[in-house]
Amino acid sequence: MRLLVKVSGEALAEGSAGVFSDAAISRVSSHLVALAERGHEVAVVVGGGNIFRGTSSSDWNIEHVEADNVGMLGTIANGILLRAKVEATSNLEVRLMSAVDIPAIGEKYIRRRALRHLEKGRLVILSGGIGQPFVTTDYPSVQRAVELECASVLCLKNGIDGVYDSDPKTKPDAKRYRTLSIETAITNSLGFMDRSALVLAKQHNVHVHVIGVDTGIDVVDAVASDAVGTRVSR
Ligand code: UDP
Repeated sequence: MRLLVKVSGEALAEGSAGVFSDAAISRVSSHLVALAERGHEVAVVVGGGNIFRGTSSSDWNIEHVEADNVGMLGTIANGILLRAKVEATSNLEVRLMSAVDIPAIGEKYIRRRALRHLEKGRLVILSGGIGQPFVTTDYPSVQRAVELECASVLCLKNGIDGVYDSDPKTKPDAKRYRTLSIETAITNSLGFMDRSALVLAKQHNVHVHVIGVDTGIDVVDAVASDAVGTRVSR
C-alpha cells in the first residue's frame, strides 16, 4: 500500500524539552522504517510547528508571509534530521525533496520523480510544504496524497492518540472517535487538521487515519486496524 505519512513538528520534539528530541525523532524514524520494511511505499510530509508557525507573526510583529517562510524552512530542517536518522538506523534509501529549492541539501519536488522513488522502494520525505505561504502542512499532506495516488494519509501525533470530541487534556470525559466523517470534522471544527485540507480530502475521497506514536503502538498493525486512533473518511 502507498501511504502518505504526515509527521507534525511536535512529533519530533518532546514537550518543553526543546525544538528537537533525539528520542522523538528516533521513534518517528523507527515507525517510518517499519512501514517501509513491511512493504509499504512511504511518502512523508513533514511539518515545522516545533520550530516556527506562520500564526506567530503577530507575536513577532512581522509579516505573515515572512513567518510562513521561516515555518517552511523549519520543515526542511526537520526533513534533514529525519533523513539522517532513517539512514543512520536502517538500510533504506531515502530521498529528501522540497517544494522550496534547496539544491545543496535535497531534490526539488517533481511529482514524476517522487513517484519513481516510491516505485523503487525509497522513502520520500517531502519538505517545504507546498512552497507557498498562508497554508500549513495539513493542506500539502492531502494534496500530495492525491497527486501521488496514496491510499490514505496517516497522521502521526505526539501526546494524543486520535481525534476527540473535546480536548482530553482539559476535559477528562472527552471521547475518542474511532471513525468520523470529514463533514462532522469540518462542522464541529475538530481541529486535528485544517479545514482547507479536510475540504480537499472530501473532494478527492482521501482517507485520513490519526494515530498517536508515543503510546508504544506497532504502527504497521495500526495502519490495518480500525481500533487504533481515528479513521476519518467521506
Ligand atoms: N508553511 C507554509 N506553507 C506550506 C507549509 C507550511 O507557509 O505549504 C508554514 C506555515 O507557517 C506553518 C509552518 O510552515 O505554520 C510549519 O508547518 P505546520 O504548522 O504545518 O507544522 P506542524 O503543525 O505540522 O508541525
